[in-house]
Amino acid sequence: MKDVTLFTTQTCPHCKTAKAFLKQNHIQYVEKDVNYDAAAQQEMTRRGIRGVPAFIIGDDAVIGLDQAKVLELVDHRVVACPNCQAKLRVPTDKGKISVRCPKCKTSFETK
Ligand SMILES: [Zn+2]
Repeated sequence: MKDVTLFTTQTCPHCKTAKAFLKQNHIQYVEKDVNYDAAAQQEMTRRGIRGVPAFIIGDDAVIGLDQAKVLELVDHRVVACPNCQAKLRVPTDKGKISVRCPKCKTSFETK
């Protein structure tokens, strides 16, 4: 599964929208504030990204809140275990699948 990174700054209103969008679509991501994270800032420069929000999905970069493109590139969503509510990452390209919660060992099917 691809990792999702979101480059943000605290003052950017579109970053808040981007985070809400990821949450709404059950996408797990790592947020990096480029004003405080020097490594993230370097990665942005290396990829030629000049503004936030910017998404890194696997090897692809999406600059700005291009929701359709993000959804197209992301290959997982987060589901909650029906027993203990632990959050699990499941692939989106396999349809309905059976997963086992690593925390409570409950097996359940994704919708
Ligand atoms: Zn569980």
